[in-house]
Amino acid sequence: MLLKGKPAADAIIAGLASRGLPKLRLAVFHPVGDASAESYLKAKEKALARLDFAIDVVTVGRDTGADAFFALLDKANRDPGIHGIMIELPLPGGIPAHEVNLRIDPAKDVDGVSYHNQGLLYATREEKLVPCTALGAVLLLEHYQIPVAGRRALIVGRSNIVGMPLFKLLLNRDATVTVAHSRTPHLAKLVGGHDIVAVATGRPGLVRSVDVADGAAVVDIGINVGPDGCLCGDFAPKDEKESERIHYSPVPGGAGVVTNAVMLRNLAECYHIQQGR
Ligand code: NDP
Repeated sequence: MLLKGKPAADAIIAGLASRGLPKLRLAVFHPVGDASAESYLKAKEKALARLDFAIDVVTVGRDTGADAFFALLDKANRDPGIHGIMIELPLPGGIPAHEVNLRIDPAKDVDGVSYHNQGLLYATREEKLVPCTALGAVLLLEHYQIPVAGRRALIVGRSNIVGMPLFKLLLNRDATVTVAHSRTPHLAKLVGGHDIVAVATGRPGLVRSVDVADGAAVVDIGINVGPDGCLCGDFAPKDEKESERIHYSPVPGGAGVVTNAVMLRNLAECYHIQQGR
């Protein structure tokens, strides 16, 4: 089966639409001149428009220094008209990511990067503000009723924004989870021994469908621009017929679409947290 993102995203958005939310506003800190960030920004704008939510784009130039950046972040933290904040990468070299994680208001932290929200995720079983992509991967599996409890799950990639939170989310759902990375030997063999494979490396075609066991599910989180200029993932299906033998999410049109729906869900979650404080 092809695990298309749109039906899963539509279900999340329909749930939010029925909740009668006010017009929420997301501030996106956007690095100018980065091609991937440009396409991520467009996708965010499109998703926000579906619920008539607003966006404030805070441009971060290559020469923006740490003081100027954190002054803008503090302003967004304080502004009661802004309900959520997302920081797109890459940030200019002089802006330390760990300082961002410390300074962003945890109640406006749409992508769950603050140490407060990371602590809640890893130290408890609460899933309040969890990185959008990781939660999106799990909701995609849930939407297609792919069983997780008791299954062997392999995550390829261990970043703080995807692989690591996905590890905890799958563990919360009682999978037996393995995390692979660039120093993991014999990846192909490892892939073949798992029921669920989630790949987030930024390496086109790293996981080959010939290595995937019959009936297994692959969530392809990678978004890469191929040599032909087209988007491709980290998973390479042998041919279209592979969707009869295994389950996999396509790129584009798979996990990325769900990420943006989860962004809306997390923005609504931020609003509720702010209402309660
Ligand atoms: P990072 O560069 O932060 O992390 C990449 C991870 O992949 C690292 O843990 C790295 O290992 C691992 N890796 C690299 N090469 C190999 C290899 N040959 N074998 C096994 N593991 C390898 O990337 P992100 O997590 O931020 O993003 C990963 C991908 O997901 C990208 O394509 C990105 O565009 C995409 N993405 C998609 C999103 C969406 O909305 N769908 C959102 C965010 C990201 P090591 O730690 O050892 O270096």
